[in-house]
Amino acid sequence: MMSFNPALFRQQFPALSDAGVYLDSAATTLKPQTVIDATQQFYSLSAGTVHRSQFSAARKLTERYENARAQVASLLNAHDAHQIVWTRGTTEAINLVAQSWLRPRLRAGDEIVVSEAEHHANLVPWLMLAQQTGARVVKLPLASDRLPDIDQLATLLNDKTRLLALGQMSNVTGGCPDLQRAITLAHAVDAKVMIDGAQGVVHYPPDVQALDIDFYAFSAHKLYGPMGIGALYGKSELLADMQPWQGGGKMLTEVNFEGFIPQPVPWRFEAGTPNVAGVIGLSAALEWLAQLDVQAAERWSCSLATLAEQQLSALPGFRSYRCGDSSLLAFDIQGIHHNDVVTLLAESGISLRAGQHCAQPLMAALGVGGTLRASFAPYNTLQDVEALTRAMHTAMTLLAD
Ligand code: PMP
Repeated sequence: MMSFNPALFRQQFPALSDAGVYLDSAATTLKPQTVIDATQQFYSLSAGTVHRSQFSAARKLTERYENARAQVASLLNAHDAHQIVWTRGTTEAINLVAQSWLRPRLRAGDEIVVSEAEHHANLVPWLMLAQQTGARVVKLPLASDRLPDIDQLATLLNDKTRLLALGQMSNVTGGCPDLQRAITLAHAVDAKVMIDGAQGVVHYPPDVQALDIDFYAFSAHKLYGPMGIGALYGKSELLADMQPWQGGGKMLTEVNFEGFIPQPVPWRFEAGTPNVAGVIGLSAALEWLAQLDVQAAERWSCSLATLAEQQLSALPGFRSYRCGDSSLLAFDIQGIHHNDVVTLLAESGISLRAGQHCAQPLMAALGVGGTLRASFAPYNTLQDVEALTRAMHTAMTLLAD
């Protein structure tokens, strides 16, 4: 494994030569050259698609595509590559669990506990399900540390709880709840657990077996890979007990006008021509990540966020919503609208996000209409922090007039 060198790491991201100061990696990470090359080579050199043709190029492609499942399984320490289902991303993976696993098991009056910190992707599919079935979505509130209140979770879980939906890491505060404890509590009442790993996977790839996770979802584009591809991990017995949600080509073994026989897991959940380029790009990202000292890279990103928080705290009205020493720094300036600030920052070449971050209930819990969010990645530099601080001072001077 290479030791982590921020300057060398940075050189692998061509977009940085053009992106100015990029502080929006929580929305999507930039892509290293090796991922770009793998995707480009697929389109320029590969022939055919997967699981459909007998000619040798297509067979090789199928092998590569299926091997990528094993790479994801190894990232998450899943015991079997067939526990990995390709999806468009986290959103589709969660909807798949909602419609294919939970819906047939849900009765009116059953409960789904969802934390208040969730991204809309891990809330709306459960609300839709509640509408469809008469089940109830129960809010797990934030504690004073802005993390989902796991102490309160014990009082919310009961014999009506079918599922707990919890994010590994908030895309706003960067807070990581105690998954081990939450999962143990949920399992004690026989509820299953859906972990949204969209934000967490790049920082702390989980051990799904050690944590006893039932379902885990992530998106490749937040893990240095392409957009439009992601994965669902599920326990084998849960996946085996799920019927397909979407029908179409290659998800079945036999069909006539009386019905169809679905393929085994995971192919039964992958109707239609898949995103082969996406899988190959993700595979390249995982190969490349295996060379990285992820912990050292993480320490670097978090140290930059800490420095930024220290420097920005000199601004009158500065408020931070950061949990712990996360690499995400959500903040605002009391009395000044985040959209005004972000517009001025953009003029200084600083790319960061302002708004509700697809987490309206979390914004309500924090008592704000929105925040700014600077999210740091290992390719960011001390100069980026200084540029942000300088631009914030300039913006404040202009807005205070
Ligand atoms: N959950 C969290 C915590 C996220 O940050 C995101 C992406 N912003 C998602 C879910 C949804 O991911 P995707 O849009 O890639 O499906």
